[in-house]
Amino acid sequence: MNFHVMTLFPEQINNCLKESITGRAINNGLISVNTVNIRDFSDNKYGHVDDYTYGGGAGMLMQPGPIYDAYQSIRIKLGLPKGDLMDKTSLDKPLRVLYMTPQGTPFTQKMAEDFSKEENIVILCGHYEGVDERVLERIVTDNVSIGDFVLTGGELPATIIIDAVSRLVPGVLGCDESAVYESFYDGLLEYPQYTRPVDFMGARVPDVLLSGHHKNINEWRKQKSLERTKERRPDLYEKYINEKTE
Ligand code: SAM
Repeated sequence: MNFHVMTLFPEQINNCLKESITGRAINNGLISVNTVNIRDFSDNKYGHVDDYTYGGGAGMLMQPGPIYDAYQSIRIKLGLPKGDLMDKTSLDKPLRVLYMTPQGTPFTQKMAEDFSKEENIVILCGHYEGVDERVLERIVTDNVSIGDFVLTGGELPATIIIDAVSRLVPGVLGCDESAVYESFYDGLLEYPQYTRPVDFMGARVPDVLLSGHHKNINEWRKQKSLERTKERRPDLYEKYINEKTE
């Protein structure tokens, strides 16, 4: 699985992902992260890629040209014909382009699963006041938000998405099952977990988990999952119950 990230701050992406599980996945060739510096496509000698907003208002906006050229450079690298989504002839080789924006669809585990089926994902990170609308209209397939708050740039959201998607790529996690039993996989939060010691400051690991009785352990976990979801995420619980009774 290959991620292509259009950004003004490639090091922020690379530094974040080179550690731990994502770093190992990159080193093992299970995922690749190709950062494309939008500034390299500036059309002026100062390397500027932003300008004032038409109509007034505070802050600078990223210009469309450098982003469009950065996007075309990725298509060329992938052996795809130059194109954009407004040009229907280019749709026979669709390329998923995610724009990180607080105006996007809130990111979920389901979206991570969907993205993980792609061979190539392009991610556009905005900065300043954001990006000129015309380039977004031409290249973006998915507007994605990581929550109802505003950050300074799209780099942290991009690394969050790469992390969540990468761990669904076979082989990235030590044991492929790990992703299966986690929160959100079946619409519920995960049950509480324990490791050694059996007794921590007088609090013991629940007996059922020490029993070796797998059926009872699974039932206990399911019950705890339901209780936890009901308490912490009543919205998810409601959805889960409704889907079960449909
Ligand atoms: N003016 C924009 C608006 O009101 O929608 C916000 C621009 S924000 C300061 C700069 C960049 O940070 C955005 O273009 C986007 O790439 C990124 N960003 C900020 N908050 C985000 C969020 N919650 N999810 C995803 N990306 C975000």
